[in-house]
Amino acid sequence: MSDFPVDEQDLYKKRLQLTLEASGLDLWENNLSTGEVVFGLTKIFADLGYDKEEEADEIGDIFALMHPDDVASVEQAIDEHIKGRTERYYSEFRILAKDGQWVWYANYGKLIDDAVFGDRFIGVSFSLADKKRHEEELLALNTRLTEQNAQLERMNLELHALATRDSLTGVYNRRHLMEIGEREYQRSRRFAHPLTLLLIDIDFFKQVNDTWGHVTGDLVIRAVAECCAQQVREAIDTVGRIGGEEFAIVLLETSLEAGLTLAERIRQCIADMTVATYDGEGEASVTLSIGVAQLTSTCRSFHDLMVLADRALYRAKHEGRNRIQGHDVSTSAS
Ligand code: GH3
Ligand code: MG
Ligand code: MG
Repeated sequence: MSDFPVDEQDLYKKRLQLTLEASGLDLWENNLSTGEVVFGLTKIFADLGYDKEEEADEIGDIFALMHPDDVASVEQAIDEHIKGRTERYYSEFRILAKDGQWVWYANYGKLIDDAVFGDRFIGVSFSLADKKRHEEELLALNTRLTEQNAQLERMNLELHALATRDSLTGVYNRRHLMEIGEREYQRSRRFAHPLTLLLIDIDFFKQVNDTWGHVTGDLVIRAVAECCAQQVREAIDTVGRIGGEEFAIVLLETSLEAGLTLAERIRQCIADMTVATYDGEGEASVTLSIGVAQLTSTCRSFHDLMVLADRALYRAKHEGRNRIQGHDVSTSAS
């Protein structure tokens, strides 16, 4: 029996009702010894569109309307609380509304051990629709943000490629090659590592344009770039187009001797190659002259190394083209 006088009990009931109403809570209470439902989920069932007679009169009925994926976790939360492992019972679950929609709810409860009334499981249920909607909105926002970030990254990569690559051949452009060259020059100087540069020029290229046309000339330039890219070590050496029909290759950790060997491979590759002309009527062929120079102590910048390679290239041209020339280290002081 209650300790309060009857009219005070009534006042408490009214206060409780007001609190529940204002906070959107639905009270439930089960007598665990008898299985009797003292309070049912009146508000929830009404909110979900069910009639009075359809209301659950046993706790089991709420499980009948619960999303099958949520039943196990709710049962586990009840079980853990009844066994005294949790201070409070809390669970989240979806209930099927009359219109067929799943609506999110939460239960918050506690086992009350009452000497007079017996063990009671008392709690409140409340809608999580707003919270879940916010969560879903946040998730959608996050997904959109992730997609936008990925797109931004792709655009940045494209922008970087546009800024560093030569559009005709796909190898690096002059500006980027000079940047890489300067960086590698600094590194090689600091750690006393060898660095070698190849300067490549297509021989009598003007004649290719004059004979086959500019478009076929472009195809030849592309073929030379491709050959260079194929012959070097990927992600170690840098191939760049530094002029109309001129290329440079920066070779890391490479001696003059190894540079000459590579230059000869490239020269041979192009000498053996023919390129189908744009009109499909003929085959164009070209040769290369290549100057090779290794970084010396006299170089004060990457540009100085380019000057050495250019001198060697000039000699290759002067001596008849379709050949390679290395910068003679013994004359590097000149
Ligand atoms: P050398 O053996 O002395 O190098 O003779 P060359 O004819 O190759 O040299 P020159 O510098 O006289 O001519 C280079 C030609 O390359 C002239 C120019 O019209 C052509 N050229 C430059 N850029 C391009 C390009 O992007 N496409 C094409 N098709 N031709 C180009
Ligand atoms: Mg040239
Ligand atoms: Mg040329």
